[in-house]
Amino acid sequence: MNGHLAIAIDGPSGAGKSSLARRAAAHYDFIYVDTGAIYRCVGLAGFRNGVDTRDAAAVERILPQLQIRMKYNEAGEQRMYLGEEDVSADIRLPEISICASNVSAHPSVRAFLLEMQRKMARENNVIMDGRDIGTVVLPDAELKIFLTASSTARAQRRLLELHSKGVETSLEEVLKDIELRDYQDSHRAEAPLRQAEDAVLLDTTEIDFDQSFLCLCRIIEERLGIRA
Ligand code: C5P
Repeated sequence: MNGHLAIAIDGPSGAGKSSLARRAAAHYDFIYVDTGAIYRCVGLAGFRNGVDTRDAAAVERILPQLQIRMKYNEAGEQRMYLGEEDVSADIRLPEISICASNVSAHPSVRAFLLEMQRKMARENNVIMDGRDIGTVVLPDAELKIFLTASSTARAQRRLLELHSKGVETSLEEVLKDIELRDYQDSHRAEAPLRQAEDAVLLDTTEIDFDQSFLCLCRIIEERLGIRA
């Protein structure tokens, strides 16, 4: 106990974790921490340095020179910096998603990023989303949620999101990327994606965003006894 509340939201890519967590954080006045963005920074750095992101030793060599920082702007949005550069847009490029998934399998990368995530939770009330928040990063979180949906539903949502950002891609490509990342994220030896035993399962395949948000709020209010 450090006097702060932590809500851990884990689940596969495209389940809507970040949109739901961001909205819930604004609603309950918590800080939203998107941990995938931190792994994406390492993936981006590897990509830019021409490193094979599947090669653990090669990725480990670039870690000491990485200065990853998370900052919140006035609108409360999380911005990611590599050194002095704001890389918040570049880390979202589709080619960086798989690099992030590749680097996240390396134990040295996970260890390197662990303290940064825990520090955020020590110092704030957080809603933190990722793959191993309830199992590894914040095993004592006051509430754990495992958010999921079918891979097709997730691909359709991700496609809409990418199109709205002007990224040209097809449902087939997005589905392939999601299934590959699901497989990699849940089969790696280190901190694989899995539901914590004490996590509440929320499956959003058949419900839209607003309904998912209402379900999430109900769980938060019942379990934590808080109100917006
Ligand atoms: O959540 P997002 O899709 O942005 O995460 C990018 C990648 O980072 C994931 O595919 C996953 O491999 C990795 N990740 C992780 N642990 C976390 C958050 C993300 O391994 N806590």
